[in-house]
Amino acid sequence: MVPNVENTAVLKSALRGDLILPRDDYYNEARKIWNGMFDKKPGVIVRCKNTSDVAKAVNFARENNLLVAVKGGGHNSAGTASCNDGMMIDLSLMQNVEIDPDNNTAKVEGGCLLGAVDKATQEHGLAVSSGIISHTGVGGLTLDGGMGWISRKHGFSVDNLISAEVVLANGEIVHASKDENPDLFWAIRGGGGNFGIVTNFEFKCADIGTEVYSGPIVKRFEDAKEYIRFHREFVKTMPDEMTVWMVIRHAPPLPFLSEETHGKLVVLVPFVFLGDAEKGKELMQPVRDFGETLGDGSAMHTWVGWQSAFDGLVDHGARNYWKSHHIKALSDECIDVVIDYASKMPSAECEVFIPHMEGAPGRIGANETAFSFRSTPFVLNIHTRWREQSDDETCMKWARGFFNETKAFSQGVYVNFISDEGENRTKEAYTPKVWDRLVKVKNTWDSGNLFRVNQNIKPDNFS
Ligand SMILES: Cc1cc2nc3c(=O)[nH]c(=O)nc-3n(C[C@H](O)[C@H](O)[C@H](O)COP(=O)(O)OP(=O)(O)OC[C@H]3O[C@@H](n4cnc5c(N)ncnc54)[C@H](O)[C@@H]3O)c2cc1C
Repeated sequence: MVPNVENTAVLKSALRGDLILPRDDYYNEARKIWNGMFDKKPGVIVRCKNTSDVAKAVNFARENNLLVAVKGGGHNSAGTASCNDGMMIDLSLMQNVEIDPDNNTAKVEGGCLLGAVDKATQEHGLAVSSGIISHTGVGGLTLDGGMGWISRKHGFSVDNLISAEVVLANGEIVHASKDENPDLFWAIRGGGGNFGIVTNFEFKCADIGTEVYSGPIVKRFEDAKEYIRFHREFVKTMPDEMTVWMVIRHAPPLPFLSEETHGKLVVLVPFVFLGDAEKGKELMQPVRDFGETLGDGSAMHTWVGWQSAFDGLVDHGARNYWKSHHIKALSDECIDVVIDYASKMPSAECEVFIPHMEGAPGRIGANETAFSFRSTPFVLNIHTRWREQSDDETCMKWARGFFNETKAFSQGVYVNFISDEGENRTKEAYTPKVWDRLVKVKNTWDSGNLFRVNQNIKPDNFS
């Protein structure tokens, strides 16, 4: 349904923020989202300034029977921050962060990007456990889980959520916490934007100081098979303070790599240690000593600097098709498939990204939040990224083949890493018990499925 322009004028006059129509100059800029694969054209964009604007936009959309998409940071690789014809509720003007240093908590508005949260919390040496790229949105990342460099020690973003302010499908503004609307609070910690629009998040912060011993150590792709076999055992010996991931990609022009390494296929081993540099160095020595090391960027880095160190590798606008699953164990057979596909990457910007999980998230009870598969040891992220539309088919075919051939080693998926893959795939992100409970909560809070431009959990009576 396309909105009636006269009606939108009434809404516009009631807002503190902006209302943008296709005829407006800023429209094409405002409708952009991170993944260049999507060129959706909403009938109206409401850029909200506060919670009351969000409630007004929701009421307008519901009363006018408009499809609703919610844009936090706009990064969802399935393009769910936007829609055709309906209303995009854009939270990007809602970027306020308030820190309570006495209680180590942060109040974060629903449209914040991770970088804004890092900058504000770091003024007090604090951090919210979240993702690794500073231009990602807190909204989408948190509501589905939120994992990054300190989650092995401090849990996922959802594990640090204390409360949330939520605008419901009926326009009502409610709070959710362990004591207030606990079923809603359970569901928004893993069930995404299915239940309402979160205008404020309250997080517990971790006291990590302002610098972390971190860096990538770079290994030869030619040794990848042996290295990954070593890596899968090595990471299991690490304390929760140490997080060691693995990325197979073409080497960026990092200053500590020789020029002839730039652009070559390598295995990057990025890590973060929450502790002193000497101990971190000692813990990482086996990685340096394994086979040949092409470069070592280990050092004390500011947290803010480290959290934005990889931003440029995944900037806005490129075409992306990401596939992912949790890997039960990096078996030799699985490693063989990984090496085979990695050696045939269809573009210089593709990555095979293998975070090691385990640690604190696995010690949180399966019923406490809606995040399933907490004990997965590894995630296999197939990040397919390219520039030209003419390469779509080749690149997507590679990703699908890689995904299908590793499916036998997988168990579930992190919902934030699902592409545009349909309803059944969303279900695979949850255990059957959690899925059934999510549907029940959806029946209560959004029985008309107003919030459905997402990895959708359909209410029972919605076809
Ligand atoms: C470059 C890049 C790096 C990433 N790194 C990580 C990482 O380190 N860790 C990790 O866990 N994930 C990571 N992700 C995945 C990321 O968490 C998801 O893409 C997430 O959906 C992004 O949230 P967003 O707000 O930016 O996206 P959007 O596309 O704006 O939103 C995603 C979904 O959430 C909904 N939504 C957003 N904000 C709200 C809100 N306030 N209230 C209700 N619903 C809302 C939207 O409607 C949409 O359906 C990364 C993604 C990208 C593209």
